Amino acid sequence: MKTLTDEQKKLLMDSIRDIPDFPKPGILFKDITTLLNNPEAFNLLMDHLTARYDEMNLDYIAGIESRGFIFGAALAAKLGIGFVPVRKQGKLPHTTIGEKYALEYGVDEIEIHIDAFNNKEGARVLLIDDLIATGGTAEAAAKLIRDAKAECVEACFIINLTFLSGTKKLEGLTPVYHILEVV
Ligand code: AMP
Repeated sequence: MKTLTDEQKKLLMDSIRDIPDFPKPGILFKDITTLLNNPEAFNLLMDHLTARYDEMNLDYIAGIESRGFIFGAALAAKLGIGFVPVRKQGKLPHTTIGEKYALEYGVDEIEIHIDAFNNKEGARVLLIDDLIATGGTAEAAAKLIRDAKAECVEACFIINLTFLSGTKKLEGLTPVYHILEVV
């Protein structure tokens, strides 16, 4: 189903557990492990994503470490296309390209393999992660896709913390789709 009803969205939202003050005081962590071990919710989500992206003529899905790997790899297998991991600095074994992004305190970096998209210029890539908060991680990932000369067709998030306006950082880089929002 390409469009989810309010009832289906509620089922998904209710399957995600809130953990207050994790990983530090003041953060309400959206724990998607309870969605993953709920077959009704996980299947509903994957059926929706498959219906949405089946006709977008994608070549690859790029998933952001680490929860983007779970949804991205499952969706890539459903769509019969390749999966590319976007990893924290220092984790990928072959030659990489990297992009730094700002954290609350300090800087972090994510990387992809230099040949992640098999040097296919203009490859159509869907970027996916479980959640967008400030948008810094997704912005860096979208820039990496661009630097690899591929096209980020859309960035997809299960949850958007809209009060942090993270999608603003993706303006001009990629269209954005989210399923659930926390206002
Ligand atoms: P950001 O770069 O601020 O958009 O942060 C996004 C990344 O941090 C994603 O990979 C999320 O999985 C994780 N993240 C940030 N805030 C939360 C939260 N409240 N609950 C769960 N994951 C979060």
